[in-house]
Amino acid sequence: MKDTNNGKKAVWKRIGETIAEWIWPRRCPVCFDIVSKSGNLHNGLCCNNCYPKIRFVGGATCLKCGAMLIREEDEYCPECRAKERNFVQGIALMDYTCEAAAHLLWKLKYENGREFADFLTEEMVSRYGGRIRNWQAEVILPVPIHKSKKRERGYNQAEVLAKKLGMSLEIPVDPKALTRVKKTVAQKKLNLQERLDNLQGAFAATDRAAGYRRVILLDDIFTTGSTAHVCAAQLIKAGVQEVYLVNYSIGRSVGSRAGLGAGGENDRGKDNPEGGRRLKGKWDRGR
Ligand SMILES: [Zn+2]
Ligand SMILES: [Zn+2]
Repeated sequence: MKDTNNGKKAVWKRIGETIAEWIWPRRCPVCFDIVSKSGNLHNGLCCNNCYPKIRFVGGATCLKCGAMLIREEDEYCPECRAKERNFVQGIALMDYTCEAAAHLLWKLKYENGREFADFLTEEMVSRYGGRIRNWQAEVILPVPIHKSKKRERGYNQAEVLAKKLGMSLEIPVDPKALTRVKKTVAQKKLNLQERLDNLQGAFAATDRAAGYRRVILLDDIFTTGSTAHVCAAQLIKAGVQEVYLVNYSIGRSVGSRAGLGAGGENDRGKDNPEGGRRLKGKWDRGR
């Protein structure tokens, strides 16, 4: 009897999905064409053509921040070797120097592409779900944006991603444990120290943070790690013991970001100068 009921439920679910697909067709997060479950792999969330264009993080990665390493024999990237990091460990999903990933993130953040969080969540869970669960964090905290930005954009992309991931992995999400108290100037022209100075006092942990011991800080992009470092410092000050990171994109560790102020904020666009030039700096136009 139970099987019959489950069978009926599955049929109704499928019918519901088909109607929803018809009314609100899914779009590919990269080319924006309509995708359907029937014609596409990846659960109908990305078209077959674009999927291979997204470069996912793979191979040897930094044990601290999760960036792809240039030298496989290294354990840590040059930045994690050189800098103090307040977080325990991080993982990242995509390489933002690849144009497809950069476009996807751009749409998610600035063009109301909240629906693409479904695709990103599926990829995150299938690749890193086990590892994230193993951290045994009590809560996921999205990196907050300033309330004026949220008003302007209508949402915080990190919060959208956090809610989807939390639902999928059954980890609570608390968007109020960390707040953005200061609107900062665009980071793109700043060097590392200036970035840190710029971010000092930008975030504050609220009373809610004191109730957690192990947390996951979630963000859409990890460039130099300054934001994660500063947020983790606030959380630790409030009583949190361990901060882990889930990032949806990261660059390659090249050890050249020391010259941030001079050439560009990072190696974004290295493999695709055109896409890179167009996208460079956009990320920092405000959180
Ligand atoms: Zn596509
Ligand atoms: Zn690292």
